Amino acid sequence: MISDALVARLCDRVAASTSDTFSTVNVFTGGTLAKVPRSSPEDVAEAVEAARKAQQVWAGVAVADRIPVFERFHALLLKHTEEILDILQAETGKSRKDGFLEVSAPLVTVGHYARKAPKLLAPQRRQGMLPGLVKTRELRVPKGVVGTITPWNYPFALAFMDIIPALIAGNGVVLKPDTQTALCTLFGVDLLYQAGLPQGLLQVVIGDGPVVGTALVDTADYIGFTGSTRTGREIAARAGQRLVGYSLELGGKNPLLVLADANVHQAAVGAVQTCFSNSGQLCMSPERLFVHTAVYDDFVQRFLNEVKRMNLAAAYDYSADMGSLTSQRQLETVIKHVEDARAKGATVLTGGKARPELGPFFYEPTVLTDVTPEMLCYDNETFGPVVSIYRVADDTEAVERANATSYGLNASVFSKSIAHGEHVAAQLKAGTVHINDGHVVGLGSADAPMGGMKDSGVGRRNGAEGLLKYTESQNISVQRVPLTTPPRWLPFGWYVKSMQGLLRLIRRSNIR
Ligand code: NAD
Repeated sequence: MISDALVARLCDRVAASTSDTFSTVNVFTGGTLAKVPRSSPEDVAEAVEAARKAQQVWAGVAVADRIPVFERFHALLLKHTEEILDILQAETGKSRKDGFLEVSAPLVTVGHYARKAPKLLAPQRRQGMLPGLVKTRELRVPKGVVGTITPWNYPFALAFMDIIPALIAGNGVVLKPDTQTALCTLFGVDLLYQAGLPQGLLQVVIGDGPVVGTALVDTADYIGFTGSTRTGREIAARAGQRLVGYSLELGGKNPLLVLADANVHQAAVGAVQTCFSNSGQLCMSPERLFVHTAVYDDFVQRFLNEVKRMNLAAAYDYSADMGSLTSQRQLETVIKHVEDARAKGATVLTGGKARPELGPFFYEPTVLTDVTPEMLCYDNETFGPVVSIYRVADDTEAVERANATSYGLNASVFSKSIAHGEHVAAQLKAGTVHINDGHVVGLGSADAPMGGMKDSGVGRRNGAEGLLKYTESQNISVQRVPLTTPPRWLPFGWYVKSMQGLLRLIRRSNIR
């Protein structure tokens, strides 16, 4: 399905000077999928320099003239969706339904920034120090070369949702995808070049995080990172040494609240859809469900019914509701969390076992109750199809328990009353809160920033912040008449008095 010729063409895009390779896995079979080139730290340095050279020209292109490249990319994404899905499924093992949502996300990003970027990046007139006498403008200058580091779980969406605004803002980009999911990312990079992106502006390097990722963090002018909180901390420390900026999109242990006035059927269906998206390997997926006691029994019954109806399959069509976990490592984490919970007294309401007959890394959607703080899955991110349900007495208890985590990425609230849902949402410490949905509508509302509070991140993607973070603001102020140096003939004391008088007048008139 993925031809050798295609692999060779895509791998040509990787900045790698030796013939060293990595093997990637076909997740549905466990066999070898492809051999992808291995970059060295020297290749990273060269890639950054090449991107820098191309960036110096790109920065001189007017923002409005950059946009058509991304409009053409949008059209190419729509045209090639099925080919991208084939690669994405083979590399991640996700269901085609989940893949479709993933490939759609960058379409929203392109549409949003194509409309908003020219205005957001245009020079803005600001109030000068003194009206009429000082002219001040704020300019947005590209950072230079942005290093983008992405994980394996949503490799296509996360790469392009982040590099598109970086490129539109006038930067070059060096992208380091996770090795296992390099091909689908390279397919998108190839489409960007087909769409007319200037050669060299977007570079791809592949290699182990601590080697190639570190080399990128040590050379780029800004780091956009998505991955685990542990790696995020290391990157922040290194970037801090060089005083370069960064944004970090990290892990979560997301709560989903079913309030007493929820539409219980809608909550059960919505919870299944969000908890088991990409087999729970979604940073925004809820792993903790807090259900009001008045609707607890009804919710649990309906939720279990929906879970048991899910179709698990290694299928390259839209028949499967859930696919595979992506790796042996992820499967081992899931087994460890479930077995630990079981051994310490948790009840497994459904699931709780691997399904090797479907594929090497398949695991059933699993629902636990009686989970207590000693258990690993209580407050550690499982990143798999495992959720725990807790009964709560009222909204106060639900909010307190939802917030009792070091993470703060996403939360969901189900209630028939929008006002009630919004009231509870405002008390949750999470960068995104979805009402009557799990994770889709906030992600798709690209006009609003999203990201993590607490250990879930620093900075935001989407919205104005998701674009402006790739720029430096520059204040250009013009003194139209000499103000800051008094004439020689004027005693300085008189100058002080006249300036103070002026400041008083300005304050009284409330113009500054
Ligand atoms: P990870 O931190 O192990 O790896 C992420 C990327 O960083 C990979 O490309 C990896 O090669 C690279 N890397 C690893 N060590 C590095 C280092 N020392 N320096 C530079 N780069 C390094 O994370 P993962 O296991 O691949 O991804 C899963 C995690 O990502 C989960 O915690 C999940 O919640 C989180 N995630 C967050 C978001 C979000 O938007 N907040 C989205 C997806 C995934």
